[in-house]
Amino acid sequence: MSRFFADQYKDLTPYVPGEQPQDKKYIKLNTNESPFEPPESVKNAVSGQADTARLYSDPDLTALRAQMAQNYGIPADNIVMSNGSDEILNLAFMAFADEKKPLAFADITYGFYKVIAELNSIPYTVIPLKEDFSIRADDYVGLGKTIVIANPNAPTGLYLELSKIERILKSNPENVVIVDEAYIDFGGESAVCLVKKYDNLIVTGTFSKSRSLAGARLGFAFANQKLIADINALRYSMNPYNVNCFTSAAGIAALKEKSYFDNNCKVIIENRDFLEAELKSLGFIVIPSSANFVFAKTSLIGGKELYLRLKEKGILIRHFDNDRIKDYNRITVGTAKQMKTLIEKIKEVLEEIENEKC
Ligand code: PMP
Repeated sequence: MSRFFADQYKDLTPYVPGEQPQDKKYIKLNTNESPFEPPESVKNAVSGQADTARLYSDPDLTALRAQMAQNYGIPADNIVMSNGSDEILNLAFMAFADEKKPLAFADITYGFYKVIAELNSIPYTVIPLKEDFSIRADDYVGLGKTIVIANPNAPTGLYLELSKIERILKSNPENVVIVDEAYIDFGGESAVCLVKKYDNLIVTGTFSKSRSLAGARLGFAFANQKLIADINALRYSMNPYNVNCFTSAAGIAALKEKSYFDNNCKVIIENRDFLEAELKSLGFIVIPSSANFVFAKTSLIGGKELYLRLKEKGILIRHFDNDRIKDYNRITVGTAKQMKTLIEKIKEVLEEIENEKC
């Protein structure tokens, strides 16, 4: 830390993203990216922007929001686009949480929430998940705090029924409830249909997972027009050109490829079923997932040990050091071939462990 670093950031613990190794080629199952390439139309849309790259992108992202409106059946005025959904989460926390309206989120959830809260000096309450990692909706009913819920949750993959989200929304009319739907395309029902009904709801989403565009950085939020205007006030005060022309073009093209991406999600769900069944047959406990990853543990080997041994064998999965979940690993669902290789390598590791005991 330099001696110039502002006092307010001195205790900041930055978010630690999943490894993006540049040294060797791994089967990468650690950051919930899509194993499928974007379709040709998306690649062409990106290269088609080369000539216009000298110009700033449209700060209103008019064409992209119009296409979003068409796909999601929601007016463009209820939509804001962002540089990945991390950015929209940051803007929403800044806009709707402070000393008077502290944040509340689960103890086991997306690690970025805590980091953004601390970055912006927003007080927060951490609400423990139940023993089985599910959310107890009653903990959030009438809470009177700005609430953020990842649904499906990460890293557990568990989905909270929409009726429970609605109960939480209804009982906190003076507070904003942010539902982070980064993984909704892999299971569960979106809260988008509630945006018209509740003026305190923000639903966030991303093109990083189901739409194969993690590197392009494109996220979005749906909300009441007034909430969108507040978010835009901050967006325009920080980075009005937050979505660049390449990403915007990629987003529009991707939205027009609905059946390609729907089919990819279907394949991921099939592969998830395969992975869950295989892991269970090897003695793993697997949390039922509605996302493009599974969260699993076994008494045969510790979470960190399995992560390290698979890494040596060329497979990256995600391990978190947090005490409550240190026995688990989060494994991104990839292609059928990747899942078969993963299972083979896990079998090898378990055999090695067994032999080392002898
Ligand atoms: N929400 C959750 C629950 C996530 O797991 C992630 C990805 N790490 C994000 C939001 C952010 O994704 P992105 O910024 O790539 O849109």
